[in-house]
Parts: sequence; structure tokens; C-alpha cells
Amino acid sequence: MKKLVASLSAGTLVLTAFTATTTAEAQAPTRQPTSIGYGGAVSSVDPDATNIGLDVLRRGGNAVDAAVATAAALGVTEPYSAGIGGGGYFVYYNARSRKVYTIDGRETAPATMPSNAFVNPATGTPYPFAQLVTSGVSIGVPGTLATWDNALKQWGSLSLGKALKPAAELADRGFVVDPTFRLQTLENKDRFAQVVPTAKLFLPNGDAPQVGSLFKNPELAATYKLIGQQGSSAFYRGALAGEMAAVAKNPPKTPGATLPFFPGYLETSDLASYKALNQAPTKVRYDGLDVYGMAPSSSGGTTVGEALNILQPQHLRQQSTTQALHTYLEASALAFADRGAYVGDPAYVDVPVKELLSKGFGAERSCLIDPQHAATKPVPAGAPDGDYSRCGKSTAVEDRPDTEGRSTTHMVAADKWGNVVSYTLTIEQTGGSGITVPGRGFLLNNELTDFSAAPNPADPNQVEAGKRPRSSMSPTIVVRGGKPYLALGSPGGSTIITTVLQTLTNRLDRRMTLPEAIAAPRASQRNTASVTAEQAFIDRYGAALTPYGHTFTPAGAPGSSASEIGAVAALEFLPGGAILAAAEPSRRGGGAAGTAWPLK
Ligand code: GLU
Repeated sequence: MKKLVASLSAGTLVLTAFTATTTAEAQAPTRQPTSIGYGGAVSSVDPDATNIGLDVLRRGGNAVDAAVATAAALGVTEPYSAGIGGGGYFVYYNARSRKVYTIDGRETAPATMPSNAFVNPATGTPYPFAQLVTSGVSIGVPGTLATWDNALKQWGSLSLGKALKPAAELADRGFVVDPTFRLQTLENKDRFAQVVPTAKLFLPNGDAPQVGSLFKNPELAATYKLIGQQGSSAFYRGALAGEMAAVAKNPPKTPGATLPFFPGYLETSDLASYKALNQAPTKVRYDGLDVYGMAPSSSGGTTVGEALNILQPQHLRQQSTTQALHTYLEASALAFADRGAYVGDPAYVDVPVKELLSKGFGAERSCLIDPQHAATKPVPAGAPDGDYSRCGKSTAVEDRPDTEGRSTTHMVAADKWGNVVSYTLTIEQTGGSGITVPGRGFLLNNELTDFSAAPNPADPNQVEAGKRPRSSMSPTIVVRGGKPYLALGSPGGSTIITTVLQTLTNRLDRRMTLPEAIAAPRASQRNTASVTAEQAFIDRYGAALTPYGHTFTPAGAPGSSASEIGAVAALEFLPGGAILAAAEPSRRGGGAAGTAWPLK
């Protein structure tokens, strides 16, 4: 809302064109969790970002253009979850070739990072997680910008500059602070306050921005413009690279800062050699559908895929609600055991992707599910060795603590030609490393804490120089008869996998509509003694599932961001060419789904 107003400035009357910044005046865009229409669609957690993507589609851009423009806008409005300081995974269905392609834009460990980087030499054990997160040592080489560049060059029609322009304008204009943004800022206030550029940007006047005020980020706008003019090399090779390496080693700290800020290993040479990798997707067949996901370095595709293979012989559709939920929880625990034992960066670890996703292995694991009793957790990993029998052999597996964050963001986009993008991007924890690049308007990730903290050569996810930490991000596209049927994904650390799996089974087996499948309360069994669940799930199903032996732990304190599991954004391609775009009705304050030409 532009207004021409008279204001008194330093005793002089000046006329200023300005955008309203007060609670009363700033007008938040409306959010809509579902939309049905034609001409393409976008769904994300944020209305400004979704609108930017839809605008690109209406102007003739394709799904990849829209996805990059939306993701860049999420870097503005969701700066604690996404942005050019982080990484992610891009899954793309090409309508012409009818094939699915992926880009692995995961952050990598710097070339000089030792395997014991997280270990306190005085004790021989890892430093506390809370100290590692907010420090340079957790910062991996960012992959997001290389992902956008790669995707646009292969499949887009816009230049990087054109795709970033609407987001740069949004950063200049500002967005209306909502309760989620304020809550996320407050939850990070203590650590943000310890880093000068972060406090300056996100704690103006020492407090989180008020709900209803406008949050502007002209420094990020300038960074996007610079990259738009000079290309991604401005980031990976230019002045910015030197600044990122410097701040990772020694962030400007506020007086009285108490965190140790372990120095990072990031060098300009790490940035110069970064590559977003083209990679074959994972694929499993479930109920006549082809389910495509992200191959390692993410564990998303193999774990969702294996769990579906475990579920297939169980015929969830014929089970009661309680029985189906029991089966889902057990299948998830088994798949997580194999994830922990076998999945890491394939450049460093021989991951048995083909066997993990084989029907034989899935059936062997499936028959371990007792229909009456929950297995004692952690369950051991299986042996994906190509030699399968009914209820085959298991290997002992260590219970490794899971420290993945609950941040991240997922978006989906489709165009009128039938191309589809399912894209999850992150800076790891909400607020990443808490370290903002001075004068550049974006936070750096703490993705390297996704590695197991203690060195252990038997662990596929131990820290190694140049390696990508194992992710759980699970951008997924489901294809039926060669044509897209569903596209979905979620944030939530390792709960991403269970959220995608649960949403898929809700839709495909439990016959919910897509909006119902998203809204349904969530539970996440990641091979732990107790199931992490939303309170609504415990209230609704806890009593019926307890006799099986399941116990439940609420995901987080009521009212905290952690009390919710995931934030799905999804599309369903309806018969006749219409698209149903769906987002969360209430988690994270509700998402924003839109179609280019909505049906009234
Ligand atoms: N770092 C996590 C991963 O790569 C995602 C973090 C999150 O979703 O909050 O799987």
C-alpha cells in the first residue's frame, strides 16, 4: 500500500512515498490452503512466495522458472528456513520426455574438515549440539544458488537475473511479519543477539519484529541483484565467497557473547569448486504408481521408497484405521534402521540403493511386522544383499542420536505444459548457524551438524572432508501411467520422511482427499523407543495404539514450533487437466496454495 504522506524529519516538512510499516496499516496477503484451477500451480508455506511463482506462470514462465522465483522469495520471507546460504534437493518431471530428473544441491564439508571436527580434544567426545550449531564449524558450502542456476540452465526459460528479480523487489518492499516469523525469531533470540550482523538484521531495536510490521531486507535485495547481474559466480567466486569464508572463521560477536563459536573450515576454494549434481531419482512402484524421490546424499528417496515396499504386501487399504497406523509405524521403524546402517553420501559410501529399494528386500522386512505387537525399538537393520527369504536376517544396529532440525521449507510448482517441480530447501535448524554474512542479508547454514558428530568409520554418515551430510529431505513426485499424479514434500528433519510417507498413505490407502491427508495429525516412528507425535494424534489414536505396545512422546511443548510435525506443500493432478494445489491449513500459521487460473 503506497501512500504519499507528509512527515516531519529533522524539523523539515518532507513529502515521502513510503510503504506502510505500522501494525494498523501493513496488509498481509491472504493465505489459501487449497486451490483448484488450470494453467499451472504453486504451493508453499508463504503467500508472497506462492504469488510470485504464480505470477511467473501467468507471464508464460515454466514450472522451473516459477520454482526458482518462489524459492528465492522464500529466501526473503522464510530466511530462517531457506535461502542462498543453504542447500536442498530439486526433483523435476519433464512433460516432454516424461522422465524425472533431480539435482542434489546439498551443502558439502570443506576440503580440510577433519573427521573429528566436532570432538572436544579435552574429553574425546563431541561438543554439545547447541554449541556446534551456532558456529562456523557447522557451515557447509552452500548449494542453493548452484541448484537454481543448474535448474534454470537445463530446463528454465528465464535467466537467473529475471528469476531473482521479483524476490529482490519483495526484499526491498518488505513483507508483513506474521506470528510464525515472530515466534521463530524469539526462539532464536539468545543466539541471534550474539552475532552482530544477525542481531542488526533480525533483532532491530533488540527485539523480534512485531507481528503486522513490514520486514525489509535491502541487503538481500542488493545481493540478489548482484547475482542477477554477474551470475552465480558472484557468489561462488566473487567478493561474497571471501566474505563467507571469513565470517565462518570469525563471525563479528557482540560484547558479552557466551557461545564458543568454533571456527569453520570454509575456504574460497571450497566455494569455487562446489557443484550441484545431476542425479538419477529413486523409483519404487506402489499400487501401480511410480513414486520418484531423491537418491543419496538424501536418505529421503530410499527410506520413503523402502517403507512403501514394506507396506505393499500389508495391503493397508484393507486394514482398519488403527491397524493401518500400527503397520505404518512399524514399517517406518524398519526403514529407518536401514537408513541408519547404509545411507550416506554415495561419493564416499557404497550405498546399496538398488537393494534397499528392491521388492525382495521390502518383502523380507515386511514379514517382520507383527500385526498385534509393536517390535522393541530400535529394531536391527536388515541385510540388503540380494538374497531374500521370508523374514530374513537382521544385523545389529547402533542407536545413533538424531540431531536434524525442524526447519526447512518445501514448495511445489507445475505449469500449463505439464512440467512439475517438487523442491525442498533448507539452512538446517530454524535460523541455520545464526551467522549472517555482514551486509549481504542472508544466514549461513548449519547443515554439517547433519553428520554424526563422533567419528566412526562404520557409520556411513561420519564427517569426512568434501562429503555431503546425509539428509532426510524427500521431495517426491508420483507418476501414474507416465503422467504426474501427485507432488509433495515437507520440512522437519528426519520427520520429513515419515510426514511424506504418512501423507502418501493417507491419500493412497486411507482414501483421504489431499487436503485431508495433509491436515491429519502426524506421528513419526524413526526406530526409537517412543513414537514422536503431535498432541492431536496422541489424543485421537493413542488409546487405540497403546495396546499394541506403542508409546508416544509429544513432538514439542504446546504452542512451540516444535509441537508441529512438518509443513506439507503438495499438488494433485486431477482428471481433465485441473490441478489441486494444497498447503497446510494451520501448521506454521497455514500455507499458501494457488493455481494460475483458479476455478471459482
Ligand atoms: N537438515 C535436514 C535434512 O537435510 C533438514 C532440516 C529440517 O527439515 O529442518 O534432512
